[in-house]
Amino acid sequence: MVTANLRPTKVLVSKQAITHNIQQALARLDDKTRLFAVVKADAYGHGLLNVAKIAQEAGASGFCVAVLEEGLALRAAHFTLPILVLGIVPPEMAPIAAVHDIALPVGDQEWMQQADRELAATPDVPALKIHLAVDSGMGRIGFREPDVIKQAAEFAEQCATLDVEGIFTHFATADEADSSYFDEQSQHFNAMLAALPKRPRYVHVANSATSMWHTATHSDMVRFGITMYGLNPSGRALTSPYELQPAMQVVSKLSFSKLLPKGAAISYGATYHAKQAEWIGTVPMGYADGWQRRLQGFHVLVDGQVCEIVGRVCMDQFMIRLPHEYPAGTDVVLVGKSGDQEITLQDVADYADTIHYEIACGLTERVPRVVI
Ligand code: PLP
Repeated sequence: MVTANLRPTKVLVSKQAITHNIQQALARLDDKTRLFAVVKADAYGHGLLNVAKIAQEAGASGFCVAVLEEGLALRAAHFTLPILVLGIVPPEMAPIAAVHDIALPVGDQEWMQQADRELAATPDVPALKIHLAVDSGMGRIGFREPDVIKQAAEFAEQCATLDVEGIFTHFATADEADSSYFDEQSQHFNAMLAALPKRPRYVHVANSATSMWHTATHSDMVRFGITMYGLNPSGRALTSPYELQPAMQVVSKLSFSKLLPKGAAISYGATYHAKQAEWIGTVPMGYADGWQRRLQGFHVLVDGQVCEIVGRVCMDQFMIRLPHEYPAGTDVVLVGKSGDQEITLQDVADYADTIHYEIACGLTERVPRVVI
């Protein structure tokens, strides 16, 4: 997808906010616990390379990504900190990961056997760092039984091609007030850890929510994602233990503005008709940019005033009702502050009946990310 650098629609990413959020988290970790910045999915829509640079400068000790390609993109940009992929990568890719010093997760012994064969058949490749994934109750990836993980770890110990660097799990309900399922998962993980012949260097269980509300479980590493971007992992459910500064703003400018007579129809399906003579502005952003069609009826800010999105959101544009005349070129805030009004990603997510993670990640490559 082509990035529309000449269009005024931008995602602004605050270096200061990301730095602040990381420093708040670091201040609450003990000395032995490392913070790995989770920069998967283009750093949750904030821009992979820029966020990685900011996170590194702010004190992150490594990066987590979802797919091997994201790790390779970091290496191509000369990031040398440790990188861990969180999703299962085909074992045929083990040599590529090893050559680039990218650690991979493992959830079964067959994967290890195949990766071992691939690595052994590749000349001059270093040992692949692996992290044993434990499915303690998320039902996604990983070992579930202590005897099975024990056998797999013993197998890995015998393979010169594999270096068991870590063991980890992921909690399903760390962002909820009721901690009973969290505690069950935690116990399950501890039993799996106890089954290992040797404690790996990184034992890690904490995503943002776990790092904020279950501080006893920090272990050796925190996989710090959504909170780095200043968003509360629980949505509105739990109060953050420290101040979060949202890193993302979404801004644009009116591309067109006109006075329509009472009854004039707006956008596909003619679902909106001006209730009286109305000033209607056009915003150059649409569902192809990740501004979802279901945001019809939601609002943006113009000059500190709330303006309703009227008519259907189109692929590349949508229309808003202005309180009075504003010319083309007028600033529009889709996410962020204008005057004493604010729209948060949480507000957008609430209206779209989803979570802020999805709104941020859903902003497409067509919208430039600009670090401010
Ligand atoms: N760890 C794992 C395994 C994940 O899948 C994710 C994100 O989905 C994270 C950590 C980061 O989670 P969060 O963004 O909630 O901090």
